[in-house]
Amino acid sequence: MRKLLIAANWKMYKTPTESTAFLTSFFPLIKNDTFAEIVLCPAMPCLPALVDAARAKPVFVGAQNMHWKNEGAFTGETSPVMLSAIGATHVLIGHSERRQYFNETDTTVNLKLKAALAHSLIPIVCVGEKLEEREAGLTRNVLELQTSIALEGIDSAIAAPIVFAYEPVWAIGTGRTATPEIAEDAHKIIRAQIGKSLTPALATSIRILYGGSVKPDNAKSLCCIGDIDGALVGGASLNPQSFAEIVHNAKP
Ligand code: PEP
Repeated sequence: MRKLLIAANWKMYKTPTESTAFLTSFFPLIKNDTFAEIVLCPAMPCLPALVDAARAKPVFVGAQNMHWKNEGAFTGETSPVMLSAIGATHVLIGHSERRQYFNETDTTVNLKLKAALAHSLIPIVCVGEKLEEREAGLTRNVLELQTSIALEGIDSAIAAPIVFAYEPVWAIGTGRTATPEIAEDAHKIIRAQIGKSLTPALATSIRILYGGSVKPDNAKSLCCIGDIDGALVGGASLNPQSFAEIVHNAKP
């Protein structure tokens, strides 16, 4: 059984005070729901306060990015050692905004994935095609390539915690969503590639989330059908009521 995972990506929104205020409002709305792993990914400066506020609550706190090295002269970067030390449990890797604006490549995604596993952080690896790639019939190639390079050299024995998120770039922050059929097809491609890169057993057990304009009203059809094991939510996760509604509506 793959446990649903519903993650909030707050991007570059919310101060530390705003992020803990979110939790104060959000927590009573989800009560002790444990059918899903709920992960909040705030901006770096909010991590310590949010980790502290989320202690003993059924909510995990993750980072939106990290460097792959433990330490070094890399101004502006945060290491996996630092994330572990402050109590972050998850980390987004390879978000399309990192790929688009900050030179993230499949190779750096692979390095970061290895580093996350080495430091017991649960990596949520984002893959997805751009609109022009979909229109050119390249979706399968893009997903297979991104997934296989991400997994290059990863030892199957330690790969179980990996989570993938299928995030078609044309659906992120656009209000445009994949149909459940498009999402399901893409998830099958990613799952098959996990089977080739790792093992068939891991292809069955590794969770794959959908991300791209998930809202309360489409959460049911997009988050927990067939091969889809939850959601990575941007815009609609900024408001505690709408994120709680997404969690409720995703309940199987
Ligand atoms: C995201 O940032 O990962 C995302 C899916 O954003 P949105 O839900 O706003 O499309």
